[in-house]
Amino acid sequence: MSNANDSPRRARSLVQHIERIERWLRTNPVKVGVLVALLMLVTMLVQEEIDEHLWLVFTYAFPVALAGYGLGFRGGAVAALVATALLYDHAIHTLGTKDTVFVLTTRLAGSLAVAGLCALASATARARERYIARHARLAKIQEEFLAAFAHDIRSPLNAILGYASILQEEAEEGSGLSRGELFEALQRIEANALHVEEMIAGMLRADGGDGAVRNEVTTFTADALIDELRRELDPVVLEHGAPVTWTVAPGTPELVTDRKKLHSVLRNLVGNALKYARGAPIAVSVRWDAPTARHQIEVRDEGPGISPEALPRLFDRFYRAAGRDAEDGFGLGLFIVKRMIEMIGGDVSVHSELGEGSRFLLTFPQLRGEEAVAEEAKAS
Ligand code: ADP
Repeated sequence: MSNANDSPRRARSLVQHIERIERWLRTNPVKVGVLVALLMLVTMLVQEEIDEHLWLVFTYAFPVALAGYGLGFRGGAVAALVATALLYDHAIHTLGTKDTVFVLTTRLAGSLAVAGLCALASATARARERYIARHARLAKIQEEFLAAFAHDIRSPLNAILGYASILQEEAEEGSGLSRGELFEALQRIEANALHVEEMIAGMLRADGGDGAVRNEVTTFTADALIDELRRELDPVVLEHGAPVTWTVAPGTPELVTDRKKLHSVLRNLVGNALKYARGAPIAVSVRWDAPTARHQIEVRDEGPGISPEALPRLFDRFYRAAGRDAEDGFGLGLFIVKRMIEMIGGDVSVHSELGEGSRFLLTFPQLRGEEAVAEEAKAS
């Protein structure tokens, strides 16, 4: 017994069947060619039995439809019209001759040409579909990329604008900021501008000019660096509500390296931990590894972890692990981390399992100057 729901269901299943056939036609150009050739052979064998006009329709309807579909409707329709007229004319004349071999040969050649044309139409349809899909994918990536970049660049720019207006007020009205506070505002402007510069350099895969490649080696304590990072990341920590513990192992010597580069490496790693760990605890620890004469800084979180498939590509430019679209970003952070840590002669590695959190480990030597970097680069 049929009910009211049957008709839409039947219509849907009919559409699905048509789609399946259409997909088959599009993805099997050779088989389409063979099928059309067989179809024409069969109709040729039965041509004496049926009306000539009907025979023409049977023979050419399918190839003509296919050519129309594959070569685009306008081009296909014109080709089909011309071909049908020629074939009709050809059929009328050859049917009248007594030379069966001639008739069969020309008919066979014509049929093979039509079959070839159909195979070509099928291949063209497939190529056109691929082109349209690729174009749509590229347009989507471009749009998402621009949106993400605009979003990411906005927060350092806002910070720069905010501090600049504080300094402007101070210059105009003298709002009573101490020297230390003025110095800090300037430092924040510099750090945020550097962040923007890194993002642009990372995006262009440029080295950011000589200045960014050359190391500015200074000596500073791990505590001073941590203090600076803490103050900068405080608002983000508050926003994510994740407890962050910072520890410096006793006996850690002063660091002799490019402070700005190390700062941005850590800002990226801790920023990621805050972003992805969604409130789970984060621990940053600094120690000195005497046997290798390298500093080791570990950034560990108890977040969702990273899948084994994502791990090998994690430091690639623009790589984002699947399912991370909910978080801001466009896959540049870890690319920048790797580039910067290598510039100071160091290395970064990651250990992570899904559900087990992530652990990023930085190791880097004391630098004495540019020669030390050159030696490190040679050794690696
Ligand atoms: P972005 O954060 O802009 O996506 P990154 O290069 O910083 O780009 O990170 C690349 C990918 O690595 C992220 O998309 C994310 O999937 C993964 N990832 C990085 N850090 C963590 C982390 N601490 N926990 C889980 N996944 C992480």
